[in-house]
Amino acid sequence: MKGRLMKCPDCGFIHEAEDRPEYAEDLFTYYNAVIETIDQRQSLCVSCLRDRVNKKLEHLIAALPPDDLLQYAEQYRFMGKPIPGLDFYMEGEKRVSKAWHHIKRGRCCSSGCRHCPYPLI
Ligand SMILES: [Zn+2]
Repeated sequence: MKGRLMKCPDCGFIHEAEDRPEYAEDLFTYYNAVIETIDQRQSLCVSCLRDRVNKKLEHLIAALPPDDLLQYAEQYRFMGKPIPGLDFYMEGEKRVSKAWHHIKRGRCCSSGCRHCPYPLI
């Protein structure tokens, strides 16, 4: 059975909601923090949804004082699995954690991670 076809408002890609990966739900949870209409949000393709969430998070990381940032990130700490492109990216076979992943954890893991944000600022 065919799912509902939607057109991404950002890139024009035609896609089905049913084709989205499992982590898309978590991206929508993040997206609830962004001020935009629900109609727009629901028709975004996964890639554009992730871009918007990434932009929002990058803005917060740059704008919020460290304590506020850690407090904000706490609510997402135990959310699902790490999201590709948001929490990490691949470099060959290796997973490289992004700053957001470390910020959610709330502390440094002392492993010398490339994007370690601690001490914050
Ligand atoms: Zn798109």
